[in-house]
Amino acid sequence: MDDFSRRGFLSASAFAAGTAALTMVRPSSGNANAQDATFAVPLDPDRADDSFGRVRRVIFAVSDGMSMGTLTLADLYSKTVLGRETFWPRLMMRPDVRSGLCTTHSADSLVTDSAAAATAWSSGVKTYNKSIGYGMDQQTLTPILMEARAAGYRTGLVSTAKITDATPAAFIANVPQRTMEREIAQQVLDRAPNVVLGGGRRYFHDGITKDFSGRFITNPRAIGDQRQTRSLVGIFAEDHIPYALDRDPDDADLMTMTREAIGQLDYLQGGFLMQVEGARVDHAAHNNDAVSMILEQIEFDRVVEQLAKYTMGRDDTLLVVTTDHGNANPGLTVYTDHAKRGLMSLSNAKRSFDWIFGEIRQRDPELRSQSIQREIIQYATGVALKSSDLEYLNSDKVEQGNIFDQLDNAASRLGSLLSNRNGIGFVSKNHTSDMVLLTACGVGAEMFSPIMDNTDIKPRLMHLMGVQRMGHSEQGTVHVRR
Ligand SMILES: [Zn+2]
Repeated sequence: MDDFSRRGFLSASAFAAGTAALTMVRPSSGNANAQDATFAVPLDPDRADDSFGRVRRVIFAVSDGMSMGTLTLADLYSKTVLGRETFWPRLMMRPDVRSGLCTTHSADSLVTDSAAAATAWSSGVKTYNKSIGYGMDQQTLTPILMEARAAGYRTGLVSTAKITDATPAAFIANVPQRTMEREIAQQVLDRAPNVVLGGGRRYFHDGITKDFSGRFITNPRAIGDQRQTRSLVGIFAEDHIPYALDRDPDDADLMTMTREAIGQLDYLQGGFLMQVEGARVDHAAHNNDAVSMILEQIEFDRVVEQLAKYTMGRDDTLLVVTTDHGNANPGLTVYTDHAKRGLMSLSNAKRSFDWIFGEIRQRDPELRSQSIQREIIQYATGVALKSSDLEYLNSDKVEQGNIFDQLDNAASRLGSLLSNRNGIGFVSKNHTSDMVLLTACGVGAEMFSPIMDNTDIKPRLMHLMGVQRMGHSEQGTVHVRR
């Protein structure tokens, strides 16, 4: 199911190029005039003008909250348990691919949240944590998808989070606080990117979807093969898309959503800008849930592999793969056979921590029965906790806010109990200030430097796409130039 080729996700010619097993098409010489000559025939009905740049298709792939330890653990797990290496490190070894580190601090915090980080990507401006497209002076910042669309690019968002969550939201919406998800949902529908696929149905209630001018669906099988000229919004879960470990066969997944989104956006000569987010890496890291974090990262990695094949089979496409911040900085930190045995033990897991605590609350609302807790945790993780472990798990002496004295919620306490078995430690349950990895491949990759700030990315994308920046308004509505 991994390969995008399994269901006609691309037009035949584009797909044939995409599956050419990493056959590299060298980036163009950068002769913009020669490139523009091929843009003369307007084949995309959405296309507004001839302003496409050297790069016509940009895919911005985000593993949310991915510390370097997460990347490492996913690779080690994949090699040790699954017998194959992950793709992203292999991609970095290619001489025509650029990788570097990005600083991520926000305007008001050395440790960013996803809202400020995604606003930095989308607007090129540092702002306060929790802001979606609002600056420090409460001015609205024009989201990058709006600017790309005004220049004739098709636009897309794919996420395993609620689509109203910070990372996708900041590419299209403006609200002063990320918790204003009803307003974000309304803006997603009003601003209508060509394709939006993710979770968050609770914010897309009938009251706002009935007036939507595009097509709104809640079943991933209803996407259909035909490309849409109007907006397609597919919201496939009440909240986030379930973790890979917890999914039913009918649930959406990142590979399918990404494939379908490109199918909607890959329109003959047209250009597009799309964000693809593996969001739940971050959620699992907050929970100190090692195995879910690793499996979400591996899912993201497989999507990146297909996106890289697609990109390298073309001479007009740029793929950027990165993360918005570190999270909990996990690391395998035991020696000799313990390390390998620890990783192997993760393969016994059947469910995420979220599932475990949901199940415990459902079966024992009073949270008093250690036997129920032990049974559920053993089923989900393969680990039989001792009575003293369960006492620690249910301990209430930790509600002191001193996160390094003792982990201060049940999920991180369960994570620390399992660390004693799997050897993977976490420094906290929070984001971290670490620099983060960015890899660029395809046309324009050479513009990405070894060290950048997260606000340095937008100017590069805009330059490569030939998109003019629109002014930021003082307050309120963003005015889109069409
Ligand atoms: Zn987070």
